[in-house]
Formats: sequence, C-alpha cells, structure tokens
Amino acid sequence: MHLSRFPRTRLAHLPTPLEPMPRLSKELGVEIWIKRDDCTGLSTGGNKTRKLEFLMGEALEQGADMVMTQGATQTNHGRQTAAAAAKLGLACHLLFEDRTGYNNANYNNNGNVLLDHLHGATTQKFPGGHDMPAEMERAAERKRAEGHKVYVIPGGGSNPTGALGYVNCAFEMVSQANDMGLRIDRVVHATGSSGTQAGLVTGFCAMNAQIPVLGIGTRAPRPKQEDMLFSLATRTSEKLGCPGVVTREDVVANTDYVGDGYGLPTESGLEAIRMFAELEGILLDPCYSAKGAAGMIDLARKGTFKDQRIVFVHTGGAAALGGYDFAFDTANAWVEL
Ligand SMILES: *Cc1c(COP(=O)(O)O)cnc(C)c1O
Repeated sequence: MHLSRFPRTRLAHLPTPLEPMPRLSKELGVEIWIKRDDCTGLSTGGNKTRKLEFLMGEALEQGADMVMTQGATQTNHGRQTAAAAAKLGLACHLLFEDRTGYNNANYNNNGNVLLDHLHGATTQKFPGGHDMPAEMERAAERKRAEGHKVYVIPGGGSNPTGALGYVNCAFEMVSQANDMGLRIDRVVHATGSSGTQAGLVTGFCAMNAQIPVLGIGTRAPRPKQEDMLFSLATRTSEKLGCPGVVTREDVVANTDYVGDGYGLPTESGLEAIRMFAELEGILLDPCYSAKGAAGMIDLARKGTFKDQRIVFVHTGGAAALGGYDFAFDTANAWVEL
C-alpha cells in the first residue's frame, strides 16, 4: 500500500507507542495492550489527528484558506481540526449540535470548547436533531460569498480521505507488532462516525494481517453502525486501489454499551475511567474511549477474550473531562490528616 500517493500534511507524532497494560491485564485476567493514539501530539492528541493529516493535505492542495466541520458541543474532532488549522494558518469554523441537552457551564464552555476558542476557531450552536451537514453547507456558502475558499470536513473527519489516516495506523501497528514479535489476536476501540474502524479494517485486510477489529458503539444501533462502517470501508478500499478486500463479515460492532445515548456517561464507562486512571495512569473520556473500554472490560470479564492478546486503541478524548466534571464524585478525595 502506497499512501504517499495521497496529499498529506504532517500533524501527528508518529508512531504512537504500543505498550502493555500489566495492572489492568492482571485485574481482568486477559493480556491487554494499548495503542496510544491519545498521544498523537496535536492539542492533547486523539484519533482525529491521523485523519486530519490526509484531510488537511487535501485542503492545502485545493488552496483552501478556511476549514469547517461539525459535531457535538464537546467534539474532540472539532478541537483537533481547530488546532490543525491554527498550525497551518487556515481559519476554522465549527458548528455544534446540542446532542446532550446539558446546560451546565463547564459542558458548554470548558473542556474542548475552551481549547477550540484558544486555537482561534469561531463556533456556532444548533439544537439537537438539526440537519448539521445541510447547516454546514449553508455556512460554507455564506463564507464563499465573502470570498473564502472553504474546505468542508464531514463530522468526525469520516470519509475515505480521513480513513486513510487509520489505514496508515493499521500498517504502523502491524509493523510495531512484527518488530516486537507480538501476536495480536484482536483490536478493540470505541467507534462513532466510523472512520477509525473503516481505516483499520481496510488496512488490515489489504495487508492480509488477519487481525479482527471490534468496534464498541457510542451512538448508533448495531445494524446502522455496521452498514455505515461497511460502506466507508468499501469506499476507502476503492480509493486505495484494492476494491473488495473488505467483506461484510470483517465489519463488527457491538453497540451494547451506548447507554442512554451519545455523549451521556454510563456507569460502566465511569468505572472504566477509574480503572484506567487508577491502574495504568491513563485518562479516558466519558463519551467515547470510556464506553469502548467498558465494552472491552465487560467482554473480558465474561470470558469472550479467553487466551487472546487484545490491543485497545486509545482514541483520545480526555480533553473533554473538564466539561464533564459533574459526572464524577470526587468528594472522598478530600481528607484531613
Ligand atoms: C471521534 C472519536 C472516536 C470515534 O472515532 P470514529 O472514527 O468517529 O469512529 C473515538 N474516540 C474519541 C475520543 C473520538 O474523539
């Protein structure tokens, strides 16, 4: 696979570490490693940075002076897009959909939102259930009428161009595993707009790595999630020049850990945050990586991964924690000695 054929701009610190998690593994009785894509380096890191290397590469090639994207208020994708735009000298406009209904001050102004503003992005908010892609097209047309050359990035950066970032991650992971003599039996991670999983699956299939990927859902029900994934993996493999390498069976999502809905913390997710933080010194976020980890932890406890070596891809998101302080009970941490 020859990714240098595609426009790309370097934004991430790569390769990200592939490390064991000995204390969590002992706790669960399953060997679990972690691919630290929370350490991609751009404005506290995360999975969108890999996608943005290819998306921003295309934006620059097209001569854009402004990028636009959309997501939930605490979108990690928006924050990484704002940082990438700042680094490349482009303007950035973010459209937020209120998907949680939280009117809490930290949720609306802290965490990722604060970082968006520090990176110089302008922001705009819409009610939940709004047609965000249509709203973004309208906003882009308005800016084009003012003379801007606008490059529009879909929510989550999930199109075949963005997914190339995770095709690259699949190559990187296999190469690291080969160097270490590490057999990987399964990769697990949180899935949302599906570019991460579509890219990983396409990359592994194109290499014939024979590493199954399990996406833990954070929003859509299983049939919708898998249809979205398969469609994007199909289009990504066509873009790569290896159409048909991904079969429907390669695309697997478990959506049992979404809870009450997108962006709403779950008990099992909060437990996963505490376990990673207290056993490994690693921060997860309530919206994505905690739900992905919660699924992995529950399946490990149920014996699903017996005798398997699992790699958890940490997709980032801890920058959102400051917007979710209300979800954590930390009163017992204050003591008098
Ligand atoms: C966006 C995001 C995901 C989901 O990745 P997709 O490519 O949208 O499926 C997972 N974790 C975090 C922290 C994210 O920001």
